[in-house]
Amino acid sequence: MTRPHLVSTIVALSVLVACASAPAPAPPQATPAPSPGAYDPNQDLGLLWVKHAAEYGAVTKQVYKIAAAALPGYISDRSWSAMPGQTGAENLPPAVILDVDETVVSNVDFQLAFERPFTNRKLYDFYREHAAIPVPGVVEFVAAARKAGVEVFFVTNRPCELIDDDPDPCPQKHGVIDELESIGISTDDAHVMLADENDWDRAKIGRREHIATTHRVIMLFGDDLGDFVPCVRRKLYGPCTEPATKASRTRLVEEHTDYWGNGWYILPGPMHGSWTSFK
Ligand SMILES: [Mg+2]
Repeated sequence: MTRPHLVSTIVALSVLVACASAPAPAPPQATPAPSPGAYDPNQDLGLLWVKHAAEYGAVTKQVYKIAAAALPGYISDRSWSAMPGQTGAENLPPAVILDVDETVVSNVDFQLAFERPFTNRKLYDFYREHAAIPVPGVVEFVAAARKAGVEVFFVTNRPCELIDDDPDPCPQKHGVIDELESIGISTDDAHVMLADENDWDRAKIGRREHIATTHRVIMLFGDDLGDFVPCVRRKLYGPCTEPATKASRTRLVEEHTDYWGNGWYILPGPMHGSWTSFK
């Protein structure tokens, strides 16, 4: 074999060997099928209803419109309180108490997007990057209440947690104030109360009672039974001595029948909440 032929043969053999040893290209990756029972937010009817159903906004507007119409009556009737057991409040200024999540701001986009499991930090980070969505009707209600001389308090179970190098002992509180401001509800530190502040706990009754020392509480708003009464969870908070059960929660609703739609206004909460522990 001449030298040029020898070289070209060696080159050809080298190419063949290289081709034979090269790894086969990976087949296109198929999307793994969700395992049976795996949680899929895109199949959760509660989330999809809040996100897509026109009926959701109709319900929340209905609640806030009925509440706004009732304001003058509760303001003028100084014997009225929406806090069971509040007495001697005739000369205190009137106030309303609203929960925040799913009562004032809708977290539906967060609920659809976040990677389970839930953490408070994920919610905090989401709102550093996404605009808050008002629950339909709430901005108009808060404006009407304030115009009528009613103070508006926001009681949320978002906790105070230190964030990285932020020296703020409760950045979540200012996160809530910023969210409210962005939807057209200005407020301040004194009117936003988080879990863990001042030794309060997740039973909101402690914060409601604190407000009731200085104000006649004429209305409560929330999407969770705990926004109205204590002892709605298995975990014991506040004055509770027995873990809640499905039956005890139903009993609490029945025992307070006179308040629903009459000082107490509940918004739809199909995405999360204390009820999810009692399925
Ligand atoms: Mg809520």
